[in-house]
Amino acid sequence: MTPPSSLKRRHFVQLSTLAAGAALLPGQGPAAEAAKTLPPAPAPPAPAPPAPALPLLPYAFAALEPHIDAKTMEIHHGKHHAAYIAGLAAALAKAPELAAQALEKLLAGLPEVADETLRAPLRNHGGGHWNHSFFWQTLAPAAKSGEPSEELAVAITATFASMDGFKKAFGEAAAKRFGSGWAWLIVQDGKLKITSTPNQDNPLMKGITADADLGTPILGLDVWEHAYYLHYQNRRPDYIAAWWNVINWPEVSKRFGAL
Ligand code: MN
Repeated sequence: MTPPSSLKRRHFVQLSTLAAGAALLPGQGPAAEAAKTLPPAPAPPAPAPPAPALPLLPYAFAALEPHIDAKTMEIHHGKHHAAYIAGLAAALAKAPELAAQALEKLLAGLPEVADETLRAPLRNHGGGHWNHSFFWQTLAPAAKSGEPSEELAVAITATFASMDGFKKAFGEAAAKRFGSGWAWLIVQDGKLKITSTPNQDNPLMKGITADADLGTPILGLDVWEHAYYLHYQNRRPDYIAAWWNVINWPEVSKRFGAL
């Protein structure tokens, strides 16, 4: 019977050692002596945190048609969102200590980033990455849009008098945002509130967004022209009106319920 190879190898090592006349007990010999005097080896460096990555859309590019067209979705996700991620990754490559933080924490602590050449890209690209990742999740094909949960519907009615009152107020915030930005439905101190932010700012950005507009977003609308121009051109109000058809109300309700 052939012994396992490990046995053979061990046997060979023992024979070789004996043959060399250097049979040593463990913990003896020059190497062991050297090991006793050396300081402990430094811990290996922590592995680099993963670079931010483009999340997959939870539906096909064409799934939101006719309200949001496939080409807009494809470019918005694959080009615009991807560009924010590339910009964020480039900024984080210069600040590995920030790369280890959750993005929400990083965005809430931007004023603490002293280096303006770092803070600006973190604000613009980090905000862009968070905002778009959030936006995709709060959209759904019209057939799956659903309704606000009872809990959320009660809160909307209590705050805005009615669902129509909420839609009117939110639509105005989105339409009046001059230039590029976002309209938001946030939860602030347990209450619903509509806010709006410019560019890629958002309600998580303490010290950048006004205190009155800080909170946890549960719904948001991108009103940058890149979000609608291919199909709606300058008709932002038409895009806003169509967007109500493709809100993922179960997701929005889940976020509301979790707060
Ligand atoms: Mn966008």
